[in-house]
Amino acid sequence: MSSFVSRRLAIVRDASRSGDEEAIGPDHERWGDWRWQSRRALRSLDDLEAALDLTDDEREGARRAMAEGFPIAITPHTLSLMDPADPACPIRRQFVPSASEAVTIPGDLRDPLGEEDHEVAPNLVCRYPDRALLLATDRCAVYCRFCTRSRMVGDGGGPRSMEKLDPAFAWLERNRQVREVIVSGGDPLVMGTSRIARLLERLGAMDWLDTIRIATRAPVTIPQRIDEELCRVLRQSHPAVWVMTHFNHPRELSAASQRACGMLVDHGLPVMNQAVLLRGVNDDADTLEALFRGLVRWRVRPYYLLQADVVRGTGHLRTPISTGIRIMEKLQGRLSGIALPKLICDTPAGRGKVPIGPQTIVAQADGRTTLKTFRGEEVDYLDPPSAPD
Ligand code: SF4
Repeated sequence: MSSFVSRRLAIVRDASRSGDEEAIGPDHERWGDWRWQSRRALRSLDDLEAALDLTDDEREGARRAMAEGFPIAITPHTLSLMDPADPACPIRRQFVPSASEAVTIPGDLRDPLGEEDHEVAPNLVCRYPDRALLLATDRCAVYCRFCTRSRMVGDGGGPRSMEKLDPAFAWLERNRQVREVIVSGGDPLVMGTSRIARLLERLGAMDWLDTIRIATRAPVTIPQRIDEELCRVLRQSHPAVWVMTHFNHPRELSAASQRACGMLVDHGLPVMNQAVLLRGVNDDADTLEALFRGLVRWRVRPYYLLQADVVRGTGHLRTPISTGIRIMEKLQGRLSGIALPKLICDTPAGRGKVPIGPQTIVAQADGRTTLKTFRGEEVDYLDPPSAPD
């Protein structure tokens, strides 16, 4: 165990949280219980103060988060990945609030993807002809400071009951052009297994659906959640479940996460990853190369590298578009196609995802296209002669 993890565990162990004196650490039998992980998440400035050497900026950020809405939650597992002494720790930057969250910069939006404008029924968003997004809960095991839905995540209500989702189901039944339902929130896998089973059963009655995509950070932030019973429920679903998880940094590739992803894949569930490009977290080619290689080793397909959404108060975590393009330029050719995600900008106001990336077409005229290879060479590709009319 690395020294910073040992130190963090010692700090947490010594903290008098609710007068509970039980030892805390990966060797403790309750560490593997996901509900315990959730119950013992750090949620306040005092909790953070007990576990990390906070900077004034983080202290201020935590005070503001507690007063103004977007809550704090960090599971013991996630905390164990952080360096308690280093505020620049890439895991810490994702989950510990910063005073910069109070700063709004040009372009910032409360609802960056225009989801409220595209809500077709309560808890159901439709931005594409064939897909819809079902917000099954507002709860997550952790709250990521860059969350696209910080406007509503953790904001009360908890998991939505089947009755509450009825209008969403009714809309889907009337709009059969929708072939894929993305179940998100919040984090749907933080709901109880029987609730997930009921939800999948309800969607399963719509036999025109091709797939259900479950968007979750559970394999990363509360990997103890992935157990045999949950995997069986996901696997039994018809339409087929695809799991879209969200690892951002190679330090998140813990042994517990490896077990969780392995269990999902071994149960026949396709697992894909969407990483968000974040300043000071993963905005360099070496870090992302290590992440993508690690995921592929686990049979998790790096699917998207997302330009961070323009969420209000996250300017300090966002990078210019050119950073992602430069990184992709370096990774092209260095990584095999199965390890190389698409770089995507989800355009503000909900106009849809746009793939971006290095310019590879240098010139195009009269059936001749000049392409730039990953080595920088220019090569012509000639189109076949057009067929006679
Ligand atoms: S787990 Fe997902 S939905 Fe929850 S706070 Fe993080 S990014 Fe947002």
